[in-house]
Amino acid sequence: MNIILLGPPGVGKGTAATKLSKKLKIPHIATGDMLRENVAKKTGLGMKAKSYMDSGALVPDDLVIEMIKERLQRNDCKKGFILDGFPRTIYQADEISKMVNVDKAVNIQANDSIIVERIGKRRVCSKCSFVYHLDFIKPNREGFCDKCSGNLYQREDDKPEAVKERLKVYREKTKPLIKYYKEKKLLADVDGSGGPEEEFELVLKAVS
Ligand code: AMP
Repeated sequence: MNIILLGPPGVGKGTAATKLSKKLKIPHIATGDMLRENVAKKTGLGMKAKSYMDSGALVPDDLVIEMIKERLQRNDCKKGFILDGFPRTIYQADEISKMVNVDKAVNIQANDSIIVERIGKRRVCSKCSFVYHLDFIKPNREGFCDKCSGNLYQREDDKPEAVKERLKVYREKTKPLIKYYKEKKLLADVDGSGGPEEEFELVLKAVS
């Protein structure tokens, strides 16, 4: 099954996708994680993407499309995949429809105050990228990852100015995808205002 997770930044797409990937045994592909990995390794793509990412803007379509094209051709995607953070523009959605069939687009929604609060409390492991929330998904030892002992940090684009910009970009460029997938009869709406467990159950129901 080829699944797309839609929704504003911080709504919990990544956490839901990680659980769904385990349950359905298909890969979780997060373009934000892939780009951050490229930035950390200072690859050509990473160097081009960094300034856009730090300011909360979108990385240009052609760069992201090239990256995802290569990723979807790998063997582990043959039985399906969960896309988290892609597509983010109508152009990206048109491009992915030329590469693969999309079976379901799950639209997770929550209001801005919940999102801003969640992003402010998000911490990420610098080693394995596992995502914590200071209330809902607390690390056992403050500042360190339970899984690999890596240091936890706050993403540059999770700081207030960049969050404002990301929400603006979401409304302008990504939100139109809701109508796009609704018209294709692929959309399932999910309420993302509860905790991570509740959200996962709703996402699972939406794809079942
Ligand atoms: P995320 O981790 O999904 O919040 O993504 C972090 C940042 O990576 C975004 O704010 C964008 O700068 C960039 N990014 C991730 N996915 C895409 C995409 N599909 N198109 C353009 N930029 C992206």
